[in-house]
Amino acid sequence: MRKVFVAGNWKMNLDSAGSRALANGLCQKLADRDLSGTIDMAVCPPFVYLPIVAEALQSGPIALGAQDVYFEPDGAFTGEISVNMLRDVGCRYVIVGHSERRHVLGETDEQINRKLRAVLAGGLKPILCIGELLGEREDGRTEAVIERHLRKGLADVAPAEMERVTVAYEPVWAIGTGRTASPEQAQEAHRFARGILQEMFGPATAQRIRIQYGGSVKPANAAELIRQPDVDGALVGGASLKVNDFWGILDAAAQAG
Ligand code: PEP
Repeated sequence: MRKVFVAGNWKMNLDSAGSRALANGLCQKLADRDLSGTIDMAVCPPFVYLPIVAEALQSGPIALGAQDVYFEPDGAFTGEISVNMLRDVGCRYVIVGHSERRHVLGETDEQINRKLRAVLAGGLKPILCIGELLGEREDGRTEAVIERHLRKGLADVAPAEMERVTVAYEPVWAIGTGRTASPEQAQEAHRFARGILQEMFGPATAQRIRIQYGGSVKPANAAELIRQPDVDGALVGGASLKVNDFWGILDAAAQAG
């Protein structure tokens, strides 16, 4: 049976008290009903709240993740955060190439690839976000974008290292818009992505790589999305900011996986 992976991306939201309360609330839910046998879980708070959330999560079933990283290990890079620093505060996952980093902050595929390889070299697990803009979908370029993001983002990664990589298909038009991809649209994109991964890393590895769906996932639509054969979990933004909403998604994923 596959074990799906659900991660919450808190983005630039909450304060220290809110971050602690959210982490505590999720831990309380899990103390009542442990889902860790069925799903893997992570939350990705802003950098400054990582230690606070790490303390709240203790060594429980929810892993800690970061929303970004810089690819150099140390040195004169004012304002940046390295993989070593993230590992030092207890992170296990790092999101790279989120659409907001690509399209708001102007990150390139090459920078994203360097970040992803730095995360792997530092022993952590990258979550590589891929996905098309609305205009790209309307122009029939969805598959070309997925292929480019995968081939460039995963360049020079060995098949054995792919055991630690999660891919998150996040159509940009679905992020924070309330307009979720239909289960069929998600499955079609995920199936295509898995085909590219198969070409790159072989069928056995491609089959094992978890491909999360992200884009307005809610408790009400999570199960149907995750029931799709190539949808192996979810990356959740807005709905990961409230205990009951995120719990609803975790619960749905535990049943649908
Ligand atoms: C995200 O930020 O990765 C995301 C999917 O956001 P939302 O769930 O709010 O659409």
